[in-house]
Amino acid sequence: MDLNQKIKELAQNKGADFYGVADLYYGRNFIKEQGGEEIASYPIAISLGIRIMDSIVDQLSDREERSVAVNYRHHGYEIINQRLDLLSSQISSYIQSKSYSALPIPASERYDDERICAVISHKLAANLAGHGWIGKSCMLITPESGPRVRWTTILTNAPLPATGTSVPQNCGECSECVDICPVSAFTGVTFKEDEPREVRYDARKCEKYLLKEAEWGVCGLCVYICPYGRNKKIK
Ligand code: SF4
Ligand code: SF4
Repeated sequence: MDLNQKIKELAQNKGADFYGVADLYYGRNFIKEQGGEEIASYPIAISLGIRIMDSIVDQLSDREERSVAVNYRHHGYEIINQRLDLLSSQISSYIQSKSYSALPIPASERYDDERICAVISHKLAANLAGHGWIGKSCMLITPESGPRVRWTTILTNAPLPATGTSVPQNCGECSECVDICPVSAFTGVTFKEDEPREVRYDARKCEKYLLKEAEWGVCGLCVYICPYGRNKKIK
């Protein structure tokens, strides 16, 4: 079995719902700007995703109820991120045992408090691996699960073939995430590679809301409402 097939099998056996490989050549400038020279020196990213349970996301319209909020934070966020970190650690060790370099990136750790972002965008890696597009909510939207997926990334120099290329945005006329956000964090502007995130999304508005206003510190309405993953028809 070749290396790519073996890693894919390992990922799936250990609970990944999404496995993809991105050629980072096309995102290099952005990656360097966000994470620096060393991070940008890796040619390949493995993008892994786990789908959040629908039973948890579908309850988010009642997120003022403590049980709903606690369950979303625990099983919809913390536990899935732990599973992703465990997955990327195990796969990275395997890649290293085959004499290649592999750098697992934490699923949810923030690296830049000023810009509220990680050392590399998991969404960018997922987009370049062909998993989905960056929606008006600034989340990665997959055709089958919408934004109901958490992601992690492993940077590597292992010679793995890319599973896809950048997926163009497919939100169409929909603006449900823009309309439902209680603090108008999204501008509704469609993603463009050469425009900074601030054109589309004010992360500080969301963070402030979660820290100071949201009941139990939980929102997730932009995840809940997206028609992709809710099996609603898109116009
Ligand atoms: S989590 Fe809530 S507050 Fe934050 S961007 Fe989404 S809808 Fe807006
Ligand atoms: S809710 Fe609509 S506009 Fe927002 S990301 Fe989903 S499809 Fe795109």
